[in-house]
Amino acid sequence: MTIANPFSQTGIWLKANLHTHTTLSDGDRPPLARVEQYAAAGYQVLAITDHRVVAAVEPLERPGLTLLRSLEAHPICLDGPVYHLVCLNVSPAFRYDESRRPNDLIAQVRADGGEVLVAHPYWCGHGLEHILALENVIGMEVYNATCAGIGKADSTMFWDYMLAAGRFLPAVAVDDAHGPRDAFKGWTMIRAASAAVADVMAALRAGSYYASCGPEFVDVRLADGVLDVRCSAVSEIRFVCRGACGSCQWSTPGAGLTEGRFKVPASAGYVRVQIVDSQGRSAWTNPWLV
Ligand SMILES: [Zn+2]
Repeated sequence: MTIANPFSQTGIWLKANLHTHTTLSDGDRPPLARVEQYAAAGYQVLAITDHRVVAAVEPLERPGLTLLRSLEAHPICLDGPVYHLVCLNVSPAFRYDESRRPNDLIAQVRADGGEVLVAHPYWCGHGLEHILALENVIGMEVYNATCAGIGKADSTMFWDYMLAAGRFLPAVAVDDAHGPRDAFKGWTMIRAASAAVADVMAALRAGSYYASCGPEFVDVRLADGVLDVRCSAVSEIRFVCRGACGSCQWSTPGAGLTEGRFKVPASAGYVRVQIVDSQGRSAWTNPWLV
């Protein structure tokens, strides 16, 4: 798959949480209160992804917030831990059946107009082979705030192993909100033609977004083998490639880096950018195949 660079797209930026729970499963707030919470916090896209159940979004709709009718599915993995799959934008007619095989479930969601993200592979304890076995997923979670509860919020290394194995997937950050501890700790900045559901889904399918827990990218461009980055003030700019090629730039103490440049080696395989602020919070671009 070719991943779109959001900074090369026309459109608008939309702050999204793509993984959210309510009292329909194990969240602490009813759907309406959850929607009000995210609208008040300045989000423009919200997917309510309760375990095994799809919330009706029509009664929750409000101007300025695009709601994706969604759920979190848990099909059995025959040789590993049960999967956690975020199924976005299913139709009202969608019927969840936990006995379906994982790839059959993904096919059902896609036939229904939706798409599937792999949730928190590190927290689940999956091996690379379990995720490589999934067909037609459109991305994975590189960061999931609720997984900080067991010290496994960050699946960055897992993502790099996926990319090195040739599974060229983009990655989102989510908070997987269940309660006050995890809400607003990770989000995805989507560059879409508009806030309409069809345009948000098109941007998600294209990978036109970046993931963040705090820092912001201002512009990122790859041209003539050189990657240029502008961002909010950070402590580190990491240029991460396959294997041992890559580079890191650090700010001097007390200053903040707001730009970086990297000449991408021909052997890089892929390159992605990760910025880390003074509080240790990251933001991640999607990778480029080189
Ligand atoms: Zn969840």
